[in-house]
Amino acid sequence: MTRSFNFSAGPSTLPLPVLEKVQKEFLSFQGTGMSIIEISHRSNYFEEIMEQTEQLLRELMNIPNNYKVLFVQGGASLQFSMVPMNLLTSYNTSYYVNTGSWAKKAIAEAEKYGEVHVQNCPIHHIPKLSLDSISLVDYVHITTNNTIEGTKFASIPNTGNVPLVADMSSNILSEEYDVEKFGVIYAGAQKNIGPAGLCIVIVREDLVGQNTLHTLPTMLNYETYVKSNSMYNTPPTFNIYIMKLVLEWLKQLGGVQQIEKINKEKAALLYNFLDESTLFYSNVHIENRSLMNIPFNTTSSQLNEQFISEATSAGFYFLKGHRSIGGMRASLYNAMPIDGVKALVSFMKQFEMKAR
Ligand code: PMP
Repeated sequence: MTRSFNFSAGPSTLPLPVLEKVQKEFLSFQGTGMSIIEISHRSNYFEEIMEQTEQLLRELMNIPNNYKVLFVQGGASLQFSMVPMNLLTSYNTSYYVNTGSWAKKAIAEAEKYGEVHVQNCPIHHIPKLSLDSISLVDYVHITTNNTIEGTKFASIPNTGNVPLVADMSSNILSEEYDVEKFGVIYAGAQKNIGPAGLCIVIVREDLVGQNTLHTLPTMLNYETYVKSNSMYNTPPTFNIYIMKLVLEWLKQLGGVQQIEKINKEKAALLYNFLDESTLFYSNVHIENRSLMNIPFNTTSSQLNEQFISEATSAGFYFLKGHRSIGGMRASLYNAMPIDGVKALVSFMKQFEMKAR
């Protein structure tokens, strides 16, 4: 069976061995004669999956014991609301670094609950920020990797005693981060973790249960997830099962340290070509180039369209850039094989030669 090279920004390509295992076990999970999606979340079978998934994530990200791992629904977008709802306590004020479209959405939600200070960044560059003297805010929020703009923080800003919250949706598990630098990390699953819908929240335990307002909905309170091991209601069992398989795949590959090396190699193949090309180019500041999402352009919108159309016919899918930016974008998440990037670069070279 031939697999396409899928450059989608999310939902995105997943490791083939994971998909094959899901397929193999689908009708009878561990010989039970029942599908995993037919088994109660309260059963030993599922509780074991949940426990192992959390353990694997802890191991892969080196999550300290004073951090809780929560499995939440509603995607990363629900965290845009849950973060202010749970963390605005002492000052009713937060500080957001606006690095693009997803950060803007997070800001719009936070503004519904309290005062928000916004630090705007240029679209293609995230300057080094000194945030260590920020005070009188409940938290600082950043987006480590900007899926649409193709930028990432070159280093994680130090926010002193103020908890740092990170939307890590599009680069979680793709490079090493020191979890201790953060108060909260959240990430929608549909890029490096598994199917859409599930969101992982990693929260330092002292930040849980701070909002005592009785109007905070039970399902939007981090404490509910901590107290019930994310089983207050029925969790998205199929997604969590697939997440476990993805984490096993990553661990077997050598973990985050190893995938980071591979991701750097993959991204360098494309960036080096873009830097040399006389047709294609990247606008992103060199320090902030994302390893995961690489927007690029040609000199004309007509050539862009032609490129996307020819690439699609040749089996390179979803290279069209986000509608707000235009051009092209190649997402090179963990599961994108290096051969996919090599094939894309060689296709781009041929296109360039023809266009001359
Ligand atoms: N934040 C970032 C950085 C994203 O890339 C996305 C989705 N592409 C979201 C938030 C929203 O995620 P969801 O669709 O899971 O709500």
